[in-house]
Amino acid sequence: MKTIGYAAQSTVSPLAPFSFERRDLRPNDVAMEILYCGVCHSDLHMSHNDWGWTTYPIVPGHEIVGRVIEVGREVKRFKVGDAVAVGCMVDSCQVCDQCRKGEEQLCRQGMTMTYSSPDRVTGEMTHGGYSKHLVVREEFVLRVPDALDLSRAAPLLCAGITTYSPLRTWNVGPGSRVGVIGLGGLGHMAVKLASGLGAAVTVLSRSADKEADARSLGADALLISTDLEAMTKAQSSFDLIIDTVPVKHDLNPYLPLLDIDGTLVVVGQVGPLDELITFPLLLGRRRVAGSPIGGIAETQELLDFCARKNVLPECEMIHMDEINDAFKRMVRSDVRYRFVIDMSSLPKARS
Ligand code: NAP
Ligand code: ZN
Repeated sequence: MKTIGYAAQSTVSPLAPFSFERRDLRPNDVAMEILYCGVCHSDLHMSHNDWGWTTYPIVPGHEIVGRVIEVGREVKRFKVGDAVAVGCMVDSCQVCDQCRKGEEQLCRQGMTMTYSSPDRVTGEMTHGGYSKHLVVREEFVLRVPDALDLSRAAPLLCAGITTYSPLRTWNVGPGSRVGVIGLGGLGHMAVKLASGLGAAVTVLSRSADKEADARSLGADALLISTDLEAMTKAQSSFDLIIDTVPVKHDLNPYLPLLDIDGTLVVVGQVGPLDELITFPLLLGRRRVAGSPIGGIAETQELLDFCARKNVLPECEMIHMDEINDAFKRMVRSDVRYRFVIDMSSLPKARS
């Protein structure tokens, strides 16, 4: 199937129109027309090869929502016309202990990512959701519940699951005290989801600019991370802190904010950490952890939870040709709180 998307050709080239082929359907494949795709900070990191393993050309995009247009002969759960979604991964080994318990993101052989990852059958690089069509094996396709507004659901597929998964791993619920560092795409979902799960939520931001937003998203308070007095007062007051900052930064100021047995979970990919001061870790039996996206079953649980609780990302809709400006604005944190590309703005592919 011929399709069209936007790709970066090198670390310095802007994203530009790119024609390419989607594979012929395998028996267990679902083909979808993409309607919306969210813009994650990882798309920007990967387009710029910030992590050193990008293969060019790269078609980014892993917050994908659309409709089924064709199914392979063995597909059981989907039919043409269904509203479906795809997140950060499109395949895994399916047989290791992690895959068998629904944690495909932790697959022992490594998950196949939605873009810039070798396909497990052909070895060709996968291409993501900044495009008109996608072909994905059935096991990695999510069902979008009817109650979810399709035009706002896309960011749940990465920003949503990446913050929901640690909230579930660390059993957040009524009575939990959750801190969220950085109020961006992931951060604002962390606030909405933690608050939806019944937790008391505090945003830790660089300034007070987002205080009103933080409250309207469901936070009880905003703490300015450079306000030493306020940070001292907040010591031992969180069970879980989710750190979504996308650049290298010092974790030490945040450790004393955790209560005994509290966990600071880093979800931003920020490279090597500065040295950690061990006393706050030892004395409070505190932990620093990481967390990658979430499994397929948990992602479906999240979509169903959001439909039930009417939790939706705050989105700014853009056209595909605005993506380079959107990347620049994301670096300046000038988005409230997730860009979503309307794929009808892409020209139709010539078949
Ligand atoms: P984003 O929308 O740009 O939000 C990041 C937020 O961090 C900003 O809104 C800002 O909040 C804060 N921030 C930005 N620059 C900063 C700086 N120089 N110093 C301190 N704080 C800063 O990004 P995102 O899409 O949420 O992604 C966040 C990170 O998570 C990225 O590194 C991304 O690659 C990573 N990620 C990881 C996973 C995973 O599986 N673990 C999945 C998706 C994304 P304030 O203005 O409130 O300070
Ligand atoms: Zn992402």
